[in-house]
Amino acid sequence: MNSNLNAPHFKDEQAAYAYVEAWLWPNGPVCPHCGNCDQGRITRLNGKSTRPGLRKCNECRKQFTVKVGTIFEDSHAPMTHWLQAIYLMCSSKKGISTRQLQRMLGGSMKTAWFMGHRIRHAMAPPATAGKIGGEGVTVEADETYLSKSPKTRKTGPLHAKPDRQVFSLVERGGNLRSMYLDDRNVRGALVEHLDERSRLVTDGSNMYKFQVDKHESVDHSKREWARGDVHTNTLENFFSIFKRGLVGTYQHMSRKHLHRYLSEFDFRVNNRAKLGINAVERTAIAVTGARGKRLQYKTAH
Ligand SMILES: [Zn+2]
Repeated sequence: MNSNLNAPHFKDEQAAYAYVEAWLWPNGPVCPHCGNCDQGRITRLNGKSTRPGLRKCNECRKQFTVKVGTIFEDSHAPMTHWLQAIYLMCSSKKGISTRQLQRMLGGSMKTAWFMGHRIRHAMAPPATAGKIGGEGVTVEADETYLSKSPKTRKTGPLHAKPDRQVFSLVERGGNLRSMYLDDRNVRGALVEHLDERSRLVTDGSNMYKFQVDKHESVDHSKREWARGDVHTNTLENFFSIFKRGLVGTYQHMSRKHLHRYLSEFDFRVNNRAKLGINAVERTAIAVTGARGKRLQYKTAH
C-alpha cells in the first residue's frame, strides 16, 4: 500500500506548486494584479534561478505566483512544507502543536507557529458563509467554559479572571460553528449565526429562555439528558474533543488566537470522515480555503 505521505507534492517543490495551482486556479492561472485570465497572455517563466511557479502577465507586465493573495504569500517556507503541515493538521483529530510541527518539518519554532495559524485561518469559513440551520433543520446550541486545569490555576483575587466561554451551533448531520463569547452574549450570537427558521434544541439554561418559538430543551438539572431527539450530545462530544486538544495538544490557547483554534476544530468536524471526506481530500479543501474561498462539500445524508 502506498502511504499518503509519498504523494509527489509532499516531496517535490514543482509538484507542490502544481498541486496548489490545480486547486486555486482550476481554470488556469489568473493574474492577481489585473485579473487577466487569458491563458494565451500569461507566460510561465522557466529558468534555473527562477522561483517555482513564476508567471508573467502580458497584459500588465507584472510577475506573480499562486501564492499572491493567499496564506502562502510572503512565506519563505517551501510549498512542500506547507502541504505537509496542512496534511498533518487535517489528519490529527486533536490538532498538532507548534513544537510537534517544528520537530516534523524542521525549521524554526517561529515559522511553525506562523504556519499553524495561517493554516487555521484558511480553515475558517469564508465571509460569505451563511447562517447555521434553516427551514425544517434541527440545530443544537450549547456553551462551555474553558477553565484552566486545577493544577495550574492560580487562586486569589488577582487571578479571578472569568473563564473563557465558547459557544457552538451545529446542524444535525451538518455544519458546526463555534465562537468565543467575548463581549457578546448568547442571544447576540444566535441572532448573528442562527437561521431563525431552524428548530433549536438546547439544555435548560436561562440563556435560551428568550427563545420561545421553535425551541425545545432538556433539563440537565432534573437529570434529563435526552427526550427523543431533543439533546445536545453532538456538541457535548465536540466540546470533549476540543478540550482534549486544549489540554493534550495545545496546552494553552491565548484569548487572542482562540477563534483560530475553534476554526481548526470546526473545520475537521465539517469535513469529517462520516461525510466521506478523508484526510487527503480534507487537505485539498484546506488548500482551497487558502484564498478565502472554500470548496463546499454537500452533506451526504
Ligand atoms: Zn496582469
